[in-house]
Amino acid sequence: MDTIDVRYNFRENCHELILVLNGEDVPGTFSFFDFIFSVENRLSMQELMTCSCGVSGCAGIWWGTRVKVRKHTVEWRDVDCRLPKRFYAFNKQEYLAVIQKTKDLIVNNIVGVPCDEYSFLMFETLEEFNRCLERGKYWASKDLERYYHAVPYFSGRILP
Ligand SMILES: [Zn+2]
Repeated sequence: MDTIDVRYNFRENCHELILVLNGEDVPGTFSFFDFIFSVENRLSMQELMTCSCGVSGCAGIWWGTRVKVRKHTVEWRDVDCRLPKRFYAFNKQEYLAVIQKTKDLIVNNIVGVPCDEYSFLMFETLEEFNRCLERGKYWASKDLERYYHAVPYFSGRILP
């Protein structure tokens, strides 16, 4: 069984969430939203890594990683996220706990704490973060009508 974790780092006045697989930091930008919603469906493609600007195509990621949610495990089969291995199997309880940890790290470290540069890892208020979670859930469930009418992911404001 592989192990998964996520850790928070504040580097050069920027927030960072780092994906840790089998005790090793995965280089590149972790796409925490795709990870959070990766258990909404039994089978899905997720772009678990992305460009530092938040657009995965910039980093040459077009397919992502195939995520399969089983009864006791969650499996990843990587296509082009360039994870250290092509296949991972995680304990489902541990996986769900790391999703909760990811949300807690964002709420406790990132929400309301400005950083120097514009980043997709920036939430001015808890309400903004919760709206993003709600919108992501509509996307994951292919409820495009509600997704379309939900408020945008980002406030659109860039801090001075
Ligand atoms: Zn980019």
